[in-house]
Amino acid sequence: MKLVILDRDGVINTDSDTFVKSADEWVPIEGSIDAIARLSKAGFTVVVATNQSGLGRNLFDLDDLEAMHKKMIELVEDADGELAGIFYCPHHPDDNCHCRKPKPGLIDAIENEFCTTARNAFFVGDSLRDLQAAVAKQCRPILVKTGKGEKTVKELDTTDIFNTSDNGKINKLAIFDDLAAATNFIINNH
Ligand SMILES: [Mg+2]
Ligand SMILES: [Zn+2]
Repeated sequence: MKLVILDRDGVINTDSDTFVKSADEWVPIEGSIDAIARLSKAGFTVVVATNQSGLGRNLFDLDDLEAMHKKMIELVEDADGELAGIFYCPHHPDDNCHCRKPKPGLIDAIENEFCTTARNAFFVGDSLRDLQAAVAKQCRPILVKTGKGEKTVKELDTTDIFNTSDNGKINKLAIFDDLAAATNFIINNH
């Protein structure tokens, strides 16, 4: 199975420091919908794994989240693509759940749902916690510079997630401007 896991905010849609709380506030990043369609047309199973602590913070409710995801799914379908699943963590950071990235619970759930391993699957994110979850599950981590990506590039200088004694087991990090550019790489390197 050719699997690509995408973070949502800052990768597919524009991020906001005040949270993306409604379908109206859910605005795709230029080229991202087409990129998802290209991945699915190339035979990839494309899945979203997203922290949505706005639920746990009571900033929006499940109906709002469903409306955002309906909008995302319809845009992808209009581009002749398909999202195979959307996995989200609804918890507050203080809940100490097992699904909020950097914890790998969302990726575990994807593995269970699709009866596959996420090892060597591509994982595209804009935050350090995306890359940490990807590394924990031996995915191939890809950082995009949209969303929090530019900030994350700087954080990489002071983090050791790609520089531990386990290095042999950790897939190399690839960095691209956005999901469209990452998609070109994924299609040419799977
Ligand atoms: Mg993000
Ligand atoms: Zn959670």
